[in-house]
Amino acid sequence: MNLSINCLFCNSNKTVATKQLPIYFNSKTFIWNKCENCKLLFLFPHLSDSDKEAMYKLSYHTTYYFNYNERYYKQLEIIKSFEKISFLDFGCGDAGLLFFLLKSNYEVTGVEYDNALIEILTSKFNKINFIQECLFWETSATYDIIHLGDVLEHLSNPADLMNRLKKYLKPDGLFFVEGPLECNPSFGYYFRKSTYFFRNIINRESLRVKIPYHITYSNANNQQLFFDGQHLEKIIFKVEEAGWPYIDKMVEIKSPWLLLQYFVSKISIFFSFFFSCWGNRFIYIGKQK
Ligand SMILES: [Zn+2]
Repeated sequence: MNLSINCLFCNSNKTVATKQLPIYFNSKTFIWNKCENCKLLFLFPHLSDSDKEAMYKLSYHTTYYFNYNERYYKQLEIIKSFEKISFLDFGCGDAGLLFFLLKSNYEVTGVEYDNALIEILTSKFNKINFIQECLFWETSATYDIIHLGDVLEHLSNPADLMNRLKKYLKPDGLFFVEGPLECNPSFGYYFRKSTYFFRNIINRESLRVKIPYHITYSNANNQQLFFDGQHLEKIIFKVEEAGWPYIDKMVEIKSPWLLLQYFVSKISIFFSFFFSCWGNRFIYIGKQK
């Protein structure tokens, strides 16, 4: 047992190094640790500024974002009943959600880490206010809703970010958080576990994560415990299945293995309708107590 590494969600020091293959990145070895209290899987050591710079070059955003065909009706449906107006997207990526909400008359602001991305977004969307993360902390505006979409799992200290953001919420403001649940039950999750044994024999390296984008691998229980630990009052916590990491479009089927992935993805989504706690993503809405 390693007593010096505290859990990133519940702060317990009862954490152990796992046998999951370590990540070699930026001339360092990152080990997967598990919290014996809340079962969170997380990487150690924490990422340095040099690690983050190596990971989040602009190419990350061009690889994962700038798909303005995506629609955000689901997010709009969730927030519109609260009748709020000002919306901050902390870690706004390509600003697709902000652009969508702008058209629904929300007052939207986006924050991003990289100044090059801020410049691109500002030139694309002149009606959206974008702020670089390091400058955001010097501002004093408050918001009805603060959204974190696929942000917490990238952080070595997610609790610290939530705490720092609290003062940017209006007194009756809401946190709206979305993200992955890599270790939550679903058909896809159990399929992945069952193929692990064979992949470990046939092609061990295919199991190794190459870049430590996600530092925490959560499930529905420890994700909720994390929010409870931030002294927030839960309004909504929902689990959904997205089929990820398996393909979900027929055009992507290029081999028998991808055909199998496609079916696993669809079956996984189908099963999640019958088991409400099965799924690999969460949606949370909460307010300060
Ligand atoms: Zn924990």
